[in-house]
Amino acid sequence: GWIVAKRVPGGRTRLRALDWAGPQDRRHQELTLEELRSRVSWIAGQEIAMETPRWLSRFSDYSRLVDSYRSGRVLLAGDAAHVHFPIGGQGLSTGLLDAVNLGWKLALTVRGLAGEGLLDSYDQERRPAAQRVIDNTRAQVALMRPDPALDPLRALFGELLSGGGESSVLSSMISAQDTVLPTRQGDGTTGSRSPWEGGFLPNVALATADGPADVIGLLCGGRPLLLLFGGRAEGYDEQARHWSGVLRVVRAEPTAELPCEALLVRPDGYVAWSPCGGAELTDVLAAYFGAAPSVVRTGQSAELSGG
Ligand SMILES: Cc1cc2nc3c(=O)[nH]c(=O)nc-3n(C[C@H](O)[C@H](O)[C@H](O)COP(=O)(O)OP(=O)(O)OC[C@H]3O[C@@H](n4cnc5c(N)ncnc54)[C@H](O)[C@@H]3O)c2cc1C
Repeated sequence: GWIVAKRVPGGRTRLRALDWAGPQDRRHQELTLEELRSRVSWIAGQEIAMETPRWLSRFSDYSRLVDSYRSGRVLLAGDAAHVHFPIGGQGLSTGLLDAVNLGWKLALTVRGLAGEGLLDSYDQERRPAAQRVIDNTRAQVALMRPDPALDPLRALFGELLSGGGESSVLSSMISAQDTVLPTRQGDGTTGSRSPWEGGFLPNVALATADGPADVIGLLCGGRPLLLLFGGRAEGYDEQARHWSGVLRVVRAEPTAELPCEALLVRPDGYVAWSPCGGAELTDVLAAYFGAAPSVVRTGQSAELSGG
């Protein structure tokens, strides 16, 4: 097993023990100081004294993922939908990303401004992301297992990480920055989409008509964003006219960091559309926000609350 000890302010020690001996008989009961003491002593191979516990808790390496994040009007997010071994500190952030994915879709749905199936895309997008986290935590648990037969595998990973090249792959995975959303069914993009679509847009600095801005600042109102770069993007503005009640349209100076004429960015920061080889903008807008919302819903406020 493993023992991880960390000094914390106040002269106390936070102690974690990972025991690979198999399922614990008492795993459904509250953890006691005596159980922790005997486990830590067993792993260490010597008696270790402990007293005055401030907090005792138990966790496991089991993984669980629900079959569906939605059942009618009930939607699951966070640990209610997915649990896994806490290695890499990914559980809370995966739950927050669920909330950010769901928030704007719920807001549009309750206002009658969502395209058909938009709320169902929550499950289609977030369940594979949770499965990926579960898979990488299982891989990490396998690497931690105290079995000498795994030493060559650990050594190989050590070499890959020390070289630096693979560490960016792993850090993008653990931070979830590399998540690519699946193509949405029925939005006309199945089979062909631009390389930008489905990816997370970095927080690029932009020069807009209203002064300097960045992607996060422009998304703060919780509205989808149509970014138009330079004069060649004017036609997209006209195509998006029917959705002006939902979209925030911002013109910006072309920038080398985003080499495209236009981008449709979802309130959660993912790119829904770009002109390079993907579907028509109007098809994507209709799939996300329904047909011509500003015509059928005149007078609706455009402010949506994000996740
Ligand atoms: C040892 C350990 C270390 C971790 N470290 C990290 C880390 O470094 N980074 C990270 O991102 N994640 C980490 N995690 C995971 C993280 O703690 C969880 O993923 C996160 O707390 C889940 O948040 P949640 O809101 O979905 O669920 P919870 O935090 O479980 O919140 C659910 C809440 O609902 C309440 N509740 C339950 N039933 C009811 C009811 N019927 N009525 C009303 N309320 C109810 C519960 O009391 C609880 O307060 C760690 C987990 C463990 C065990």
